[in-house]
Amino acid sequence: MHARTLTEAGTMGGAMPDVDARAPGTPSVPLTFRDALLAAGLLIETGVRGLYGRSATFESIADGVNAIMTRLGRDHDAEVLRFPPAMGQADFETSEYLKSFPQLAGIIHSFCGDDKGHRRLLARLEDKEDWSDMQRPAGVVFTPAACYPVYPVIARRGPLPEGGKVVDAMSYCYRHEPSLEPTRMQLFRQREYVCLGTPERILAFRQLWIERARQLGEALQLPVKIDVANDPFFGRGGKIVAECQREAKLKFELLIPVNDGAPPTACMSFNYHMDHFGVLWNLRTADGNTAHTGCAGVGIERLVLALLRHHGLDPARWPQAVRDTLWGG
Ligand code: ATP
Ligand code: ZN
Repeated sequence: MHARTLTEAGTMGGAMPDVDARAPGTPSVPLTFRDALLAAGLLIETGVRGLYGRSATFESIADGVNAIMTRLGRDHDAEVLRFPPAMGQADFETSEYLKSFPQLAGIIHSFCGDDKGHRRLLARLEDKEDWSDMQRPAGVVFTPAACYPVYPVIARRGPLPEGGKVVDAMSYCYRHEPSLEPTRMQLFRQREYVCLGTPERILAFRQLWIERARQLGEALQLPVKIDVANDPFFGRGGKIVAECQREAKLKFELLIPVNDGAPPTACMSFNYHMDHFGVLWNLRTADGNTAHTGCAGVGIERLVLALLRHHGLDPARWPQAVRDTLWGG
């Protein structure tokens, strides 16, 4: 977790002025990184903090990042699992996400009334009154992390195969953390490898990915640092949980400076959950013990933004070696 307030100042709504389009003599105001991304059309403003459209150029970099992850993880012989960016409410409840991060969850609601109710809803809209109390939970919740839908599905199959297994997961994820930092979005993609098995297997898997991330930083010519981290567990009790997580070195992050004047941003994370999900989902190893789990993943948008920050907004002009790593196949 990093300071969220440093770049919270700024103007929302309306396109930022394009520096080049300014009349000569107009005093120049330095663009923030976010302004520059919007002005270049790489991110597209929607009027909501942390909710952006992406341009073809942005997406081609995202595709490159995904392709690298596929290459790096090929030796896992992972099972590819893709889900829409939502989970059923029952699985979401079992995951205990609301215990740790109630402030981040996104619950989907829908109108469930009759004709009369619909007329009331339209009248409220007409009068610009609040209508949100006329919505009911739809039984579907935004996926908070790409690995979350994986555990219940694997658990329902019964014990893991001998030696455990690795799943390749990718999803748009929702977190309610509206921000002016372009790296802190409400909807973004995570590409993760999820390892399920014995503690030894998970720790070896995580170490392998920490090494791979270091090499990836070098190949992409980015100034990366790996450090221990903790999650933003909610409330006073959460502070203690976060401290324990940090002390036990359960989470490492790959950090890259991206935002103006802010500490470096976590672009990848490497997590050891111990038996947390194993207990919640009754995940078992082949010999009947509670499985341990871990995941190694990249925040696709954050890595794209790190590349744009360090190599410039026009990928055609990036160092050839970086281009080859992304798109060389
Ligand atoms: P942070 O500490 O910055 O809040 P995190 O450590 O809570 O991030 P994780 O839960 O580990 O993030 O999520 C895995 C990856 O997803 C992160 O390494 C990051 O790259 C990406 N990610 C997390 N939150 C966001 C967000 N709000 N917008 C874009 N990417 C994100
Ligand atoms: Zn995960």
